[in-house]
Amino acid sequence: TRPAIAWIGLGIMGSPMSENLIKAGYSVTGFTLEQDKLDRLAAAGGTAAPSIAEAVRDADVIITMVPASPHVEAISYGPEGILENARQGALLIDMSSITPQTSIDLAKAAKDKGIRVLDAPVSGGEAGAVEAVLSIMVGGEQADFDIAKPIFDALGKTIVLCGPHGSGQTVKAANQLIVAVNIQACAEAVVFLEKSGVDLAAALDVLNGGLAGSTVLTRKKDNFLSRDFKPGFRIDLHHKDMGIVTDAARNVGAALPVGAVVAQLVASLRAQGDGGLDHSALLRAVERLSGA
Ligand code: NAD
Repeated sequence: TRPAIAWIGLGIMGSPMSENLIKAGYSVTGFTLEQDKLDRLAAAGGTAAPSIAEAVRDADVIITMVPASPHVEAISYGPEGILENARQGALLIDMSSITPQTSIDLAKAAKDKGIRVLDAPVSGGEAGAVEAVLSIMVGGEQADFDIAKPIFDALGKTIVLCGPHGSGQTVKAANQLIVAVNIQACAEAVVFLEKSGVDLAAALDVLNGGLAGSTVLTRKKDNFLSRDFKPGFRIDLHHKDMGIVTDAARNVGAALPVGAVVAQLVASLRAQGDGGLDHSALLRAVERLSGA
């Protein structure tokens, strides 16, 4: 029989991901802060719980998908948290993108309670979540990965155990560095092309067929063309991730000269009130710099 799943955090990613587990035949009991998301889970065939404690009590596997390290700590620790209320032997899979150190500390605290942990952040965006084609980068022990693998298979396509606890988060930090720099490069090209009077849609099509082509260019092309920056992946979250990768790289003595500049542009977009927009809004930062 399939493990009973508890899902904490039903946002842009958590809602479609948990629904994919329901479609695959898992029973899912969820908790999140917004009532409309709880209603959506129930409508999809899941069970809405009134609290984290209630959601996790009978679960074999607990999956969390919340914004950042402080949220993971808030839902995991304390009398109302996951570690205090999950049963011994449960597997906690945190799929949020957080600092590697938070994942390492969580695994240690959970071990004392007889709870096993994997860090399993994802890439592929909202579309990847909806279509169950996410890339899932996992840190933890092989035996736990093996238990989680059928669940991951219902959520994603590329699923890799990267190393011990925290490794999934380190790989995700690298992912966010690459994505931000890639979006920035595309945004600079868009402003350059438009100021040059070239047809932008045609240019992006042909660019995408060559070495300049990328998943970013494919997925964000419509955002660039229409200037519709509805998220998607919010600037606020990418700001958090640029902080994670900058810190983690400094800790190991890796230089990120271009990443550091893009981190500043993300921070400046946020400071100008654009934190709620999709990260393709880096185009706005370049436009402002170019007086466009
Ligand atoms: P979101 O803000 O849409 O959703 C977060 C959810 O967490 C919300 O539903 C909120 O209710 C819930 N939450 C927060 N605190 C809680 C608490 N104390 N108890 C219960 N629920 C709580 O964010 P998202 O876009 O779904 O992103 C979630 C994570 O996935 C982030 O770490 C993000 O970096 C990562 N991620 C997002 C994307 C994307 O494209 N959106 C892609 C890959 C990874």
